Amino acid sequence: MIRTLKYTPPTPARGVHPQWAAAESQDAICLLPGPVAISPRVTAAFHEPLVYHRSDEFVPLFEGVRAKLSAMIGGVPVGMFIGSGTLANDAVAATLAADPARDNGLLLVSGEFGDRLLKQAQNSGLSPRILSWDWGRAWQLDEVEAAMRAMPAGGWVWGAHHETSTGVLNDLPGLVTLAKKYGHRVCVDCVSSLATVPLDLSEVYLATGASGKAIGSYAGVAFVFANPANLEHLDTSRIPTYLNVASTVTTVGPRFTAPSPMVKALDVALDVFATPALCQTRYQQIADLGGLVRQRLTAAGFELLAADDVASPAIVTFAPPREMSSAAFVGMCREWGYQIAGQSGYLAERRLVQLAVMGHVSRADIEPLLERLA
Ligand SMILES: *Cc1c(COP(=O)(O)O)cnc(C)c1O
Repeated sequence: MIRTLKYTPPTPARGVHPQWAAAESQDAICLLPGPVAISPRVTAAFHEPLVYHRSDEFVPLFEGVRAKLSAMIGGVPVGMFIGSGTLANDAVAATLAADPARDNGLLLVSGEFGDRLLKQAQNSGLSPRILSWDWGRAWQLDEVEAAMRAMPAGGWVWGAHHETSTGVLNDLPGLVTLAKKYGHRVCVDCVSSLATVPLDLSEVYLATGASGKAIGSYAGVAFVFANPANLEHLDTSRIPTYLNVASTVTTVGPRFTAPSPMVKALDVALDVFATPALCQTRYQQIADLGGLVRQRLTAAGFELLAADDVASPAIVTFAPPREMSSAAFVGMCREWGYQIAGQSGYLAERRLVQLAVMGHVSRADIEPLLERLA
């Protein structure tokens, strides 16, 4: 006799184990830096029936999304890959590895995400010079300038614009100005800065972004912004097929299979950024909300990692009070109905936590948490 065993997963108690965090997110307000809180319109678009990726419906949708993304950052064309932000950064690494100036690079590290870029570069066979700074500090452009001056012209520099781990927003325009002066190209990870602050990538060689951060959609579409005219000198025989940025940018429609729900959701999420005026409104909302969080946490006596003059409006990284562990603080916020970051190893081991205002959250959503923390 065959007995059917019915498996009932245990009901998660609130804030027990990180494994349940994603499942619980529906009844908590999400202040994570990804996944972010998603608006009901975007969720509805995600649940529309699947569309074939070569169909007359899908290809214009896909191209429309690319046009909207380009318009947000100064008109640089964009290639879309199916994957998370890390994939886009791997495409940058593969592009640099196929460059005649592959050995003439500089990597800027000021936190976890800069560190990941370094590892991605090294895993692609690159061995750049490295400049690194303590957590909470920004790129020091005088040191960057000295390093750039020592490099033969025609090299590259790569770093994370908004260092998500520390909440520091680095000086990208300053970096671009220096690179121009010394004849180098700038590559930049804008995964967590895209859609939080105005971005002009028109003088950047390669930049990356992703659907699941401040754009407010589901993770799963990765972007590389690049002008294909700047990629013609590459030895493409060295680039893994999927990571070929030039082909991805110049192809109309997706090069390979693409899931329509992610693209439809992304399309609707981009409505918030449809015009320059709407973009400004959104950046202002994030600046106001982030400013409020910083001000209230400071008033409550919390130690913020990033100084005011280099702080990103979108993420505040800080230490929990009185020697409380990151996990305990995250659990406490979870009890109060909020999902916040602090479970990642790189935060927990430094006893840090984060509040992010990158998604579909309002002042009214956050106010009760700030009152509890006061
Ligand atoms: C989130 C993020 C990434 C990509 O991480 P994924 O887990 O692949 O989405 C890369 N860089 C920065 C700065 C990020 O914030």
